[in-house]
Amino acid sequence: MVQHRFLVVTFPAQGHINPSLQFAKRLINTTGAHVTFVTCLSARHRIDNDSIPDGLTYSLFSDGYDDGFNSADNIDDYMSELRRRGAQAISDLVVSSAKEGHPYTCLVYTILLPWAADVAHELHLPNVLLWIQPATVFDIYYYYFNGYKDLIRDNTSSGTNDVLPCSIELPGLPLSLTSQDLPSFMVDTNPYSFALPLFQEQMDLLERETNPTILVNTFDALEPEALKAIDNYNLIGVGPLIPSASLYGKVPLDKSFGGDLFQKSKDSSYLEWLNSKPEGSVIYVSFGSISVLEKAQMEEIAKGLLDCGRPFLWVIRDKVEKKGDNNEAKKEEEMLSCREELEELGRIVPWCSQVAVLSSPSLGCFVTHCGWNSSLESLVSGVPVVAFPQWTDQGTNAKLIEDTWKTGLRMTQNEEGIVTGEELKRCLELVVGSGEIGEEMRRNAKKWKDLAREAVSEGGSSDKNLKAFLDQID
Ligand code: UDP
Repeated sequence: MVQHRFLVVTFPAQGHINPSLQFAKRLINTTGAHVTFVTCLSARHRIDNDSIPDGLTYSLFSDGYDDGFNSADNIDDYMSELRRRGAQAISDLVVSSAKEGHPYTCLVYTILLPWAADVAHELHLPNVLLWIQPATVFDIYYYYFNGYKDLIRDNTSSGTNDVLPCSIELPGLPLSLTSQDLPSFMVDTNPYSFALPLFQEQMDLLERETNPTILVNTFDALEPEALKAIDNYNLIGVGPLIPSASLYGKVPLDKSFGGDLFQKSKDSSYLEWLNSKPEGSVIYVSFGSISVLEKAQMEEIAKGLLDCGRPFLWVIRDKVEKKGDNNEAKKEEEMLSCREELEELGRIVPWCSQVAVLSSPSLGCFVTHCGWNSSLESLVSGVPVVAFPQWTDQGTNAKLIEDTWKTGLRMTQNEEGIVTGEELKRCLELVVGSGEIGEEMRRNAKKWKDLAREAVSEGGSSDKNLKAFLDQID
């Protein structure tokens, strides 16, 4: 086997860094290869030096937003700076390593960065896309740009957030999709114009290859049809890309992703508090690293949690401060009206070790935005879900959770687009309660937990798939 040197390039967001960092670790453990992990300087503060394995080095470049992107910045300007500076940084790195006598042998890049593949092509460096969303979502994008755009647009254009009574079926996918189940960038209420052209560019790039190969953060048993839905495309399940200690305890030091972009709660007593609660009793609430819920929506969640009366752990991230903000007044305004009552029943933290939280036996349910990492982490931990998707792939992930894997329920919004406290309480009681629905979800969650662990253990489908892929690029 060739001694590989990989470049793994990723977008500087938490949901992208976590699976790519885990993939880098898996490459090292599987092949003893050297991996250079490339992302932006804004991620530097949080990289946990203790969890960097031998064989992994970081190469950070400036995207011009070294203190991080914030909501006041223009996303289109940001994406074009990232492209310009990122392409230059990768090119410099590849050229200088070759000159120094240790050339890279393969470039792995994640979504939103098709320009990384362009650089690799120009420099004749083999490259592969690591798709960090489900295979089903890949297929939907593929069909959107290959003949199904009109069908999708015609069935989802209402100009409102209403769920249209359409049902879209796509070749090879055993699903019937409504507008709320599609990636949000495809429906006409989408406010983010930057995303779809990048996915189109990505799909066009793959179309030019004779037999496109895509590594996917999923596993064979989870999405058997979606992995095979597109003729001539070779989608390879190599996931779940989750720290191995929480999967099968094999590498005990590999307990976290090691790339948290947010400051964890300084006080880790929330874990002791969680573990002191009865088995299956605690509700964990988190909407990931990007989504920010409106104050009115937060109040409803608070109401639902209080009415439900079960202990809970709720992640409410600190707001990114903008210049000129009157922070004290802002904080006061954003304070939940029932904060004291909430703190009597549960714990609120600004960020936590999510994989550790989900693996606690005390956990009963995860109220989640269905980011793909959170969705996989809940599956791997055998924790049923109450789904509250916000944007991008999350609606599709919620659909899979509810209808295909049957490990959760999706909440319904009212006419104002709000999920009420009563709706949250209703779903929580069904999922955590002792009735048949809850029992079935727990049985299903346990089944997926076992299958996910099997997939990544030695000889499991994802382990074999990754090794076969590596043999092929030798
Ligand atoms: N996460 C965490 N602590 C938190 C909240 C989230 O470690 O308090 C991690 C979580 O485990 C997951 C990632 O952040 O790996 C979020 O990725 P996801 O795809 O779920 O959502 P996104 O943040 O991209 O919307």
